Amino acid sequence: MYNIQGYFEAETVKEAVELLAANPNLVVIAGGTDVLIKMHHGQIEKAELLSIRKIKSLEGIEKLEDGTITIGPLTTFTQVANSPVIKENIPVLVEAALSMGGPQIRNVATIGGNICNGATSADSASTLFALDARLRLEGPQGERVVPIQDFYLGPGKVDLKPAELLTGILIFPENYQGYAGHYIKFSMRKAMDIATLGVAVLCKLKEGRLFEDVRIGLGVAAPTPIRCPEAEAFARGKDVSRETIAEIGKLAVKATRARTSWRASKEYREHLVEELTQRALKAAVLKAGGGEVA
Ligand SMILES: Cc1cc2nc3c(=O)[nH]c(=O)nc-3n(C[C@H](O)[C@H](O)[C@H](O)COP(=O)(O)OP(=O)(O)OC[C@H]3O[C@@H](n4cnc5c(N)ncnc54)[C@H](O)[C@@H]3O)c2cc1C
Repeated sequence: MYNIQGYFEAETVKEAVELLAANPNLVVIAGGTDVLIKMHHGQIEKAELLSIRKIKSLEGIEKLEDGTITIGPLTTFTQVANSPVIKENIPVLVEAALSMGGPQIRNVATIGGNICNGATSADSASTLFALDARLRLEGPQGERVVPIQDFYLGPGKVDLKPAELLTGILIFPENYQGYAGHYIKFSMRKAMDIATLGVAVLCKLKEGRLFEDVRIGLGVAAPTPIRCPEAEAFARGKDVSRETIAEIGKLAVKATRARTSWRASKEYREHLVEELTQRALKAAVLKAGGGEVA
């Protein structure tokens, strides 16, 4: 049952923040594909909802003059996947968006909701981690910008202060220009399934034969999405070879804190990390203009 005790709509961020500050029990709802499921399952009881769907300033994707790409949190996954700006500049985010849910869910679910629900399995998160995305947050105290890595505090827990809203996702040019990426979602079924593991890899090559930079974002390999610092540090300056990529896969496992769940055992998830990191990196190398690594 949906025990909705009250329903409010805001048309500006200021209005939403004021309503949230005045009533701490309000639950923000964007697409509602998480909130309504939680209500249905009794995880949220007697909710008073604040819809932010009518806040126009939270929609859309833009590339600014300095190359920064801003994504409004109300942008749906369908809009992310169809965006010319994202297709041209960050195609790996299109792959992640299209791996999410099915068409009906993608038409409604927002990228902001995906981040704010704090799930390690969120399909946008590992790619946004690899892109070093920053999040713009607005609340009664004003605006702040935080790295996405600092925003995730634990399973289902994010750094949203009271009455704060996520108002923008920022991707800076130095974090996508010159990079090629690949996203692999491993799940039991091809559609409408949560990831058993998500792997987003970005790489930048020097002369097509050396790794200038490698970034690995993992979902469901720990209580929050993570990066793999040791594997990334090892990769820098190394030749693009089967041996290097195999070692990167091994080192990626070191960053994980996987657990056993009904979907997969810890050991199986670690195996997936090693194997899928290599596959994603090989695919990214090809897209970056390097040769095929068998
Ligand atoms: C059938 C089904 C399949 C699914 N498949 C997938 C999948 O494959 N991959 C995946 O990652 N997820 C999946 N999900 C989960 C869900 O669809 C996503 O997490 C989605 O992106 C949530 O977005 P939303 O707009 O619906 O969020 P909502 O449900 O509206 O909100 C989610 C949370 O974020 C908060 N919130 C939303 N926007 C803001 C904001 N701007 N500022 C502050 N707080 C905010 C809300 O208060 C709430 O806590 C699935 C869900 C369903 C029902």
